[in-house]
Amino acid sequence: MATTPSHSTLEALKGHIPLIGLTGGIGSGKSAVAQRFADLGATIIDADDIAHRITAPGGSAIPAIEASFGREYIAPDGFLDRAKMRRLVFDDPSALQSLEAITHPLIRSETVHQAALAHENGALYLLFVVPLLVESGTWHSILDHLIVVDCPPEKQIQRVMQRSKLSQAEVEQIIAKQATRADRLAAANTVIVNDGDLADLLPQVDALHQMIVKSMSKPTNSA
Ligand code: ADP
Repeated sequence: MATTPSHSTLEALKGHIPLIGLTGGIGSGKSAVAQRFADLGATIIDADDIAHRITAPGGSAIPAIEASFGREYIAPDGFLDRAKMRRLVFDDPSALQSLEAITHPLIRSETVHQAALAHENGALYLLFVVPLLVESGTWHSILDHLIVVDCPPEKQIQRVMQRSKLSQAEVEQIIAKQATRADRLAAANTVIVNDGDLADLLPQVDALHQMIVKSMSKPTNSA
């Protein structure tokens, strides 16, 4: 799901706190990288987490989804039935558009809310984890720096199959709908290569964290 931030509001934070984007294809290792950044003290604002929260029982997107798509898309436990919705929107652009018309503004306002709150609470810098960041095309002017987690597609497929019940064909279909590897690499300021194990990955994150913190040595106006 591509999310579109509110330019005016996130842009208002620009220059006051570093705004860093983190993206990558499915299974590239975004969550693993974000976890390490969090351990180092970054404030993580995760579009997928927000999307899950608004579609959990009592979530802000649930009433509109029920009204537009029907009660059958809400599971008995009150969560959005994600598997059923995924099947519907996968080959139906207008259904996807309807879903995104509901979810995107909610994700956007929650993103802005979390960012503003973190800034008020003295966050060091903000790391926006957005799976379809390059696809959305609107983050470019907001971010100070874009980090792309990259790995070969075979690795993506292997990792996603291990962590989910998806088949190889299903993972390949998801990858085919995402931006190409080349497009993501072209948009990156920094690439984290995640084709090995965690021992190869974590030092790259540590070095980037240091670089971001150093880049903040010039004073910023926190008003
Ligand atoms: P994404 O958030 O980009 O979809 P994840 O961070 O969830 O990807 O990684 C996909 C799976 O691969 C997870 O189960 C994760 O623990 C595992 N993984 C990611 N990077 C590595 C790595 N360098 N070594 C071992 N396992 C990894």
